Amino acid sequence: MEEIVSLCKRRGFIYQGSEIYGGLAGTWDYGPLGVELKRNVMNAWWRFFVEQRDDMYGVDAAIIMNPKTWVASGHTATFSDPLVECKNCHSRFRADKIDLNDKCPVCGQKDWSEVRQFNMMFETNVGPVKDDKSTAYLRPETAQGIFTNYKNVLDSFYPDLPFGIAQTGKAFRNEISPRDFIFRSREFEQMEIEYFVDPEAWSENFDKLLADIYKFLDQMGIPKDKIHELEVPEADRAHYSKRTIDIEFDFPIGREELLGLAYRTDFDLQNIARESGKSMEYRPKDTSKQPFVPHVIEPSFGVERLIMAILTTAYTQDGDRTYLKLPKSIAPVEKVVSPLLKNKPELVSKACEVYDSLKTAGQKVMWDDSGNIGKRYAKADEIGVPECIVVDFTTLEDDTITIRDRDTTEQKRVKISEIS
Ligand code: ATP
Repeated sequence: MEEIVSLCKRRGFIYQGSEIYGGLAGTWDYGPLGVELKRNVMNAWWRFFVEQRDDMYGVDAAIIMNPKTWVASGHTATFSDPLVECKNCHSRFRADKIDLNDKCPVCGQKDWSEVRQFNMMFETNVGPVKDDKSTAYLRPETAQGIFTNYKNVLDSFYPDLPFGIAQTGKAFRNEISPRDFIFRSREFEQMEIEYFVDPEAWSENFDKLLADIYKFLDQMGIPKDKIHELEVPEADRAHYSKRTIDIEFDFPIGREELLGLAYRTDFDLQNIARESGKSMEYRPKDTSKQPFVPHVIEPSFGVERLIMAILTTAYTQDGDRTYLKLPKSIAPVEKVVSPLLKNKPELVSKACEVYDSLKTAGQKVMWDDSGNIGKRYAKADEIGVPECIVVDFTTLEDDTITIRDRDTTEQKRVKISEIS
């Protein structure tokens, strides 16, 4: 884990948030390579779950929502973790994550406060007056922006059931103890779907979505033997959920939740109907059937945890070679182009031509003419570049270049016209 964190910082994937001012716990900044990786992952998800299907609709709702949203969803009353404070050094901990029979891990004293519930929503104020009426929250999940647009999508598109609404974007949770790199952050991104079904068809749709999740994880290069289904027992499930599966992954920090799949019944839509006074009923096109409130199945992905799973899977050490075996479709840089020698203008100029033409063709290419070829390959390997292109003297004679493959290190001569 430490090696991955250090690579991420050194090579410009992920930096500590506000590092220059000593950081801000639980926040992370994506650097030039990290932002490309993250966008590639999120775009791949969107393509897979939205664009390539006929039963999905995308939305992009506001992050700050009417506070009634969080009353209806139950977050205002219950989105909390148990908090305990050491009365000696005032360090705060999640009470369910430490043993209160033990001493404080920070100061070594044993003087615990009462355990109290700590609501994890970040508060803010809307407008110039700061009072109770102006209190609002940064959304702690993207899901509610989907539910609150269910009726809009229904009215605009009148889709057949089952259909889903998807949203990706930032979520904020004032976690008591952010930890383990980006695994538990206070600001992170989610990719969520609410899939609306006829209550009688929930089980088969649950299975289909589970199969789709596996297909997508496979595309992200995540091996099946590192993924585990935790069938959440009834006692641990939210009271409204009839079935929840936590998809766990063998992270270097241990087996932990990567994403969730939950059958939420009609809990959310019924709550919204009650709080808003608006009907959430779906009117079947077959008019002999009565209107009803659809049930919902929710796949909920965390982008940071997915990126952590992708990076830890891709991180490969082979002898003295370290490389990121990222799937080609999400690698932040697709190709590195270099002239064999930096001080031969004819090679540099030809390599520039190749670089420009690939860039014009829309590929993500990087230029490297530093050090020797071996070092350039090692640098490209470390950030997961699938292919390195070298322009040499033969190129000037027959318009071929060498392409070197990251995973096999094999080199092939290819016509320039055939590269892309
Ligand atoms: P956990 O039990 O680990 O706190 P959760 O069950 O509260 O997670 P959900 O509310 O189901 O998480 O959120 C859905 C997904 O969002 C999670 O599976 C995870 O991928 C991601 N997620 C939740 N909290 C965080 C966080 N603090 N930092 C990064 N990702 C998160």
